[in-house]
Amino acid sequence: MTRTIVWFRHHDLRLSDHVPLCSALSAGEVIPLFVLDPPWSSAGRARQRPHRTQFLLDSLGLLAEDLRERGSRLLVVAGPSIGVLPTLIEDWKADRIVAHRETDPNGRQQDQELESVLGPRLALFGGSTLLPPGTLRSAAQTPYAVFSAFARAWWASLTLGKVLPAPRRLPPVPRGLRSTALPALAALGLAQNPALLPGGERAARHRLRRFVASALSNYAEDRDRLDRTGTSRLSADLVTGTVSVREVWNTVERASSTSEGARSFLNELVWREFAYSTLWDRPDILTGPFRTAFSGFPWRDDEAGWQAWTEGTTGYPVVDAAARQLLGEGFVPNRARMIAASFLTKHLLIDYRRGEAHYLTLLADGDPANNNLGWQWSAGCGCDAQPYYRVFNPVLQGERHDPEGSYVRRWVPELRRLPARHIHRPWEAPAATLRDAGVRLGKDYPQPIVAHRFVRERFVSLANSHLAAARAR
Ligand SMILES: Cc1cc2nc3c(=O)[nH]c(=O)nc-3n(C[C@H](O)[C@H](O)[C@H](O)COP(=O)(O)OP(=O)(O)OC[C@H]3O[C@@H](n4cnc5c(N)ncnc54)[C@H](O)[C@@H]3O)c2cc1C
Repeated sequence: MTRTIVWFRHHDLRLSDHVPLCSALSAGEVIPLFVLDPPWSSAGRARQRPHRTQFLLDSLGLLAEDLRERGSRLLVVAGPSIGVLPTLIEDWKADRIVAHRETDPNGRQQDQELESVLGPRLALFGGSTLLPPGTLRSAAQTPYAVFSAFARAWWASLTLGKVLPAPRRLPPVPRGLRSTALPALAALGLAQNPALLPGGERAARHRLRRFVASALSNYAEDRDRLDRTGTSRLSADLVTGTVSVREVWNTVERASSTSEGARSFLNELVWREFAYSTLWDRPDILTGPFRTAFSGFPWRDDEAGWQAWTEGTTGYPVVDAAARQLLGEGFVPNRARMIAASFLTKHLLIDYRRGEAHYLTLLADGDPANNNLGWQWSAGCGCDAQPYYRVFNPVLQGERHDPEGSYVRRWVPELRRLPARHIHRPWEAPAATLRDAGVRLGKDYPQPIVAHRFVRERFVSLANSHLAAARAR
């Protein structure tokens, strides 16, 4: 009989469709383990990502309960993993450790170090994506740099296995193995934020079912609407692994494989695959632009602009609503992320990496691959990015995607009494309308910190000269 440590990581906190767990179970004794690596155990590091930490601890607690209900138990050990795993395998007289493979550059390095120490006693499985990242190649044997070509090759290579059901029973954990308690949020210096979605596998499955039954059919139209709940809200689940991407894919495909809504939704999951693959092939994009011609771009130091953008006081209501939703809920809809990121980089000329780090800090779904893709896409310097000369007009974007202004009213309550036709451009509202709505511009709500009129020209001419100089080098 084999004794296996199943090492749950920060991105696979579930019992269903957990390939390492099933492989351990078929071999004999199972020891479920979570290692408290510094990001999840040190107060300083946890405060750098409060919402993600809350979602993770929530999910871990529920995973521990699910294991207990099945006759097992989650052992929790202080990290770092690289230090403790080689000792644990000896102390616990285990034959091997199984886990899901990491895909981001730091995690991959950790996996490599562990593989070199543990050799065949460590078995790593894919599962964060539907196809292993970094495997698709163009005819020239290079990674794809254009999404449509990647997606064609991806669809042609896809073979989906079945979703593995959660085991009904698990063998008891051998006696005498010591475990520490999961840290409480308060012990990490964090307060529980009731506005965050609940973590855990059950809540994830509930969100998936509700989405399929309600919003999926209109997803293609509603995904961009800021005033509707038109998307799945599964992003933190996919990042934390409370549901597998294979289960999400299969459930949506089974429910409606041919509808426009389902096709559009599955296409977003392929964007996720593209993001993971691009980061796998180009780990350097976590520190610099994918399009190297953008290296050294003359971003500005603008502390006042940065503060206004992070607090939600730029004077552009939809940009401010996005900033405040991020602070309040650790979530921002995709369209609002694009508007906010475009504003920071193209209106304020602030380095996209600053915005990227801020999002990673505050998003409950903070994910290095998707976040980097989104930021570089918005700044125009990424893989298959929006062309740099397209600059979103935050007023028109707001009017198109939040036509009645209800998204703005929710997050920028000082404007809630303004009529819809003025809510995205309060500075153009007649004095009487502002007075009736109780808004004193410059006092209750700021004047725009930058005039949209000239920013497009400013950004495009700066980018043109930077790119021309890069070409000449
Ligand atoms: C500036 C910026 C930063 C972003 N940062 C992140 C991040 O840190 N983490 C993250 O998961 N997503 C990020 N995204 C992508 C996207 O905004 C979110 O995945 C989406 O808003 C999550 O909401 P949802 O689960 O309701 O999405 P749905 O529309 O229901 O989509 C389902 C799933 O598909 C994936 N997905 C959807 N859109 C994208 C996309 N454009 N690129 C890659 N995958 C996608 C996500 O896993 C998402 O949960 C970012 C986008 C931008 C423009």
